[in-house]
Amino acid sequence: MSHLMGWLCHYTPVEILTALGYTPYRLLGREGNNPRATTYLLGNLCPYVQSCLEAAIRQELPPLDGVVIARSCNAMIHLANVWPHYGAGGKTIVLDVPRRLNEDAIFYFSQNLRQLAVEAALAGQQRLDEKRLWAAITWWEEQRTTWRRLLTRRAAGEEPPAGKEIIEGLSRWQTSPNLREADKLEEVITRPAHLLRGKAPSQPRLLLVGSILPWELITMVEECGGLSVFEDSCNGRRLLLNPTTTAVGEGDPYLYLARLYLESPPCPRMVSDREKRRRYWAAIVDQFPIQGIIYHVMKFCDAALYDFLDLKVFCEKRELPLLRLDGDFSGGNRGQWQTRLEAFLEMLEVR
Ligand code: SF4
Repeated sequence: MSHLMGWLCHYTPVEILTALGYTPYRLLGREGNNPRATTYLLGNLCPYVQSCLEAAIRQELPPLDGVVIARSCNAMIHLANVWPHYGAGGKTIVLDVPRRLNEDAIFYFSQNLRQLAVEAALAGQQRLDEKRLWAAITWWEEQRTTWRRLLTRRAAGEEPPAGKEIIEGLSRWQTSPNLREADKLEEVITRPAHLLRGKAPSQPRLLLVGSILPWELITMVEECGGLSVFEDSCNGRRLLLNPTTTAVGEGDPYLYLARLYLESPPCPRMVSDREKRRRYWAAIVDQFPIQGIIYHVMKFCDAALYDFLDLKVFCEKRELPLLRLDGDFSGGNRGQWQTRLEAFLEMLEVR
């Protein structure tokens, strides 16, 4: 029987869950409003968090042994408080994630990961064997390398699979109950790769940025004639982390994981990593000739708002067109988004 363990934030090291015998299952929210969740959570909290709770209350999730909630932002902390009472049952494991990157933070996070391995252990399970953990680390790294290769080829200008294909593939990859059946997973990853055809299309090349991007935005960008070549989001490219310079299999695996996650491209919540985030945008824009940027600001997400302000300054310096679209993750903004997107793409085409 497959044991599913839910997780939300991409700072959750799924390797530990795999090594413990779980199949990690990402909670990706749901479309529509969240009337039941707002009974227990304030209405002015991140809609992604609200929609995950709504899915649990409506029993739309598969049976989970528990869920790991990273205390990555204010909304997640509120979710961690209510989940044991109104969530999907099973364990609620709370993981503290530092908001800055230095050696102290890496050490602190590694200790939290050690504790996560203890709290998440299945009933009667012994202390997690480090060999198993290194095997899981290697397995996940192979998966991510395949994805990274595909996304880089696509962003580099060969005719790409649609952004929609990519995001759907990544969603299946994060939620597949058969994740450990490598042949099926291989299919999920390689299917979009078959669509690479090696000819650059002429639509405006866009970078999409946000905390977590609603898939319908990516679809709409492409329906309106734009080309989403890179999704800087925690359900897009950031999910795939960056390889570390530390060798796999050597030293403390928890320290390795702490470094892997904290040193990867930062999400908007990493307040002390602003300069690294600017360098990340600069590298994307230069490497994959980006002609315009669309920022999706999640309603009530403070981290996204100050991230947007930083990106605005970055775009002004580089004279790059920037469009801000606000959303509440419910899929209800289509009319307004479409009008603004069409105008933005028209402007890009005449430049
Ligand atoms: S946006 Fe950042 S804090 Fe929020 S879920 Fe994604 S990775 Fe975690």
